[in-house]
Amino acid sequence: MLKTILRAKMVVGSAARADSIWWQDGKVQAVGSFADVRRAASVASGPPPSLLELPDALVTPGFVDGHTHFAEWALGRQRVDLAGCRTRSEAVSRAAAASPTDGWVLGQGYDANGWEAPPTRAALDQVLPGVPAAFDSHDVHSLWVNSVALARAGVDRNTPDPEGGRIVRDGAGEPTGLLLEHAVRLVHRHIPKPGPDHVLEAVRSAQTEAHRLGVTGIQNVEGADALTAFQKLEAAGALRLRVLAHLPADGLEAALRVGLRSGWGSEWIVTGGVKLFLDGALGSQTAWMLEPYEGSPDRGIVLTEERVAREALARAARGGIAATVHAIGDAAVRRALDILASLPAAAIPHRIEHLQLVHPDDLPRAARAGIVASMQPAHLLTDIPLVDRHWGDRGRGAYAFRSLLAVGTALVFGSDVPVETLDPRDGVYAAMERLGRDGAPAGGWRPGERLSFGEVLQAYTQAAWAAAGRAGRGGSLDPGRAADLVAWSAPATLTPAGDGAAFRAARAVLTVVGGEVVWRER
Ligand SMILES: [Zn+2]
Repeated sequence: MLKTILRAKMVVGSAARADSIWWQDGKVQAVGSFADVRRAASVASGPPPSLLELPDALVTPGFVDGHTHFAEWALGRQRVDLAGCRTRSEAVSRAAAASPTDGWVLGQGYDANGWEAPPTRAALDQVLPGVPAAFDSHDVHSLWVNSVALARAGVDRNTPDPEGGRIVRDGAGEPTGLLLEHAVRLVHRHIPKPGPDHVLEAVRSAQTEAHRLGVTGIQNVEGADALTAFQKLEAAGALRLRVLAHLPADGLEAALRVGLRSGWGSEWIVTGGVKLFLDGALGSQTAWMLEPYEGSPDRGIVLTEERVAREALARAARGGIAATVHAIGDAAVRRALDILASLPAAAIPHRIEHLQLVHPDDLPRAARAGIVASMQPAHLLTDIPLVDRHWGDRGRGAYAFRSLLAVGTALVFGSDVPVETLDPRDGVYAAMERLGRDGAPAGGWRPGERLSFGEVLQAYTQAAWAAAGRAGRGGSLDPGRAADLVAWSAPATLTPAGDGAAFRAARAVLTVVGGEVVWRER
């Protein structure tokens, strides 16, 4: 029966211009001027309203991150972080300082583009000679390991490349310590799994961090461990994130057998689509391309053959399970569109994850078929030079936010955490400004594709709720919607018409989920 009025500088995400919002029983009751909202709240049943005053804050609906690996990130927060290492020697010295958990030194986040030397086992062996060590790359499409880890996994010069993967080898045929795509599994499967209590506690702590960042919902692409943790939190009354849980491809048959359908779930957890990979990623040049990468004969890697993908997704859709398909290169995106457009509808829309490069001929196709484009603007912060280098002029179809929106595509934005940070301010900034981490190029990269704050907000809020089959129940601050909202400390320039830099400089000072204050800056 908690009845709360929040008075701020401005409340956005609702049709009317407003400075106050009243919520009760987990739902927004009214939005408008303070006088109107207070009058309405006072005459309503229940206790007198409590008042929160944040006179400088801008209030938005809570942000939903449209693409997360949440438990992986949660666990990764407890491991070595190699993000931001500009040289291999910097990464090696950070790795050297780590202490093993469960007998392994584990970490993630390195980006070897621009390093003075490639990641090799020899470099790790010098500082970590006696303990297995494995580090996921920033885009999680490659794994850098030492010699002990290769030995534990039984990988040597005689090990063949697995399907859809590559063991990088030196001139003599010896593995160098770098594993690409499916080859990472050769080592991953020997790393001890964290126990369920470990996952639960990591997710619980990561949920608090999400609230601190203004994130009130996630659309997660993980398996049983993550889903179990979310369900345990929900059962304990402690889940305060709206979770759309996609299904891993290897769980499809079991899901169909027991009649699990996309859209089924609770107020907190909704069953998503089946996640299938068509290709790799730009950073590792494994995204599958219609034409070769610039200056290379290579067109990337096909991770799932067309016939296999088509059959699996058709069987899924007939059973009520939507398709959630990873496609980054323009060839993979075209194939995803071909397949998804042919599927029967499920209770939630079919969607393409990443959709980083679209051929001009394919631009209107997602909108026409009602396919959601789930994109991660913060990748732009690192990808601008990579797109120019590897895709050249084809980059006009890369991160084509404005072009996709203009033809009516439903855009959902997320982070792909832990590939990028969960912090939605990075994504908002990237989508509005299209600048790299160095602030270049001046005026924005392909600036015609920039979006306004309102358009970006839509992709993080209403569009995400709709993609979860919950249109109209949340994602805006209209009466009757879930009271999931964030008050952002606002520099004077932070307005709906302001720039991305102003939003990036704001902080979430209050986060509310289901009407409950879950984060408040002190
Ligand atoms: Zn991902």
